[in-house]
Amino acid sequence: MTATLLDGNALAAQIRAEIQPRVASFTARHGRPPGLGIVLVGDNPASEIYVRNKLRAASVVGMRADLERLPESAVIEDVLRVVAGLNASAVHDGLLVQDPLPDAMGPGAARQVFDVIDPAKDVDGFHPVNVGKLVQRRPTLVPGTPLGVIELLERSGIPIAGARAVVIGRSDIVGKPMAMLLMHRDATVTIAHSKTRDLAGLAATADILIAAIGRPGFVTRGFVKPGATVVDVGITSVTDAALVSRLFPAGHPRRDAFERRGSLVVGDVHPEVADVAGALTPVPGGVGPLTVAMLLSNTLHAAEMRTER
Ligand code: NAD
Repeated sequence: MTATLLDGNALAAQIRAEIQPRVASFTARHGRPPGLGIVLVGDNPASEIYVRNKLRAASVVGMRADLERLPESAVIEDVLRVVAGLNASAVHDGLLVQDPLPDAMGPGAARQVFDVIDPAKDVDGFHPVNVGKLVQRRPTLVPGTPLGVIELLERSGIPIAGARAVVIGRSDIVGKPMAMLLMHRDATVTIAHSKTRDLAGLAATADILIAAIGRPGFVTRGFVKPGATVVDVGITSVTDAALVSRLFPAGHPRRDAFERRGSLVVGDVHPEVADVAGALTPVPGGVGPLTVAMLLSNTLHAAEMRTER
């Protein structure tokens, strides 16, 4: 392996340490801590873990963090009612509705819900008003995952200005805002997706390659220019032994972990990329912890903006 591993856990701890005194100072000024409300609908096991991590991280830095839980059988009106309550709450500065919503709510449900969140409390940055402000590079709340990637690059000393960046994935949550943030920092950005021709050839032109696809081990050695920085946003829990054996050779500690547990969390980037890339984010322990740290940063920012403007 030649790539430097970019340690998301260490950087997230650093960001939390910077946030903590600002939270204490806000609390002293306002007689209450910044508050975050999280709405969790249904019983998606991955969402349970993400929400638990977010609540724990918020309380560690001294924020108030409340969970509003709705059953799998909830209808969209139930979610809209809970969001309206948090919008009106004096003690909640930020709120988010954990994605995905139950399939039974239909394909447009998430948008319908995101659209009614008060943009000033929209700590996930999914409201169209905040998306528009991001595009125009106005101050706003920006989605935590791409914001976390920028923090990771900047704090790791990876030059962005002038770099050629390729973002694989064009979702509203990761790919599109990622491309905007890189462009605003003067990278030359290409967004690639499932219909891109010669994806590997395009990716191999990148100084900074971001994979946000959700396909385990998709980005192999041939996608990567030697020395490039590769950021792996993908998180997939795999249970397929054949796939794990294609990613990790026999005797590899991660393969042993899979054999013990029967599942393994992996990214979009094949481990062999570590032999070619200059720098690489691990999964787990790369972008994931930064996403949570930036949620805290957004909540503090929302609290300061709401109370001190
Ligand atoms: P999504 O399913 O909304 O989007 C996936 C994108 O990948 C699409 O734009 C699609 O065009 C592209 N794609 C799919 N197959 C492709 C192919 N064969 N070739 C090229 N492009 C292809 O997913 P998302 O919400 O953007 O999430 C992407 C991944 O990032 C998932 O694994 C998700 O779990 C992970 N994620 C991680 C974090 C984190 O905190 N690290 C946060 C959000 C999402």
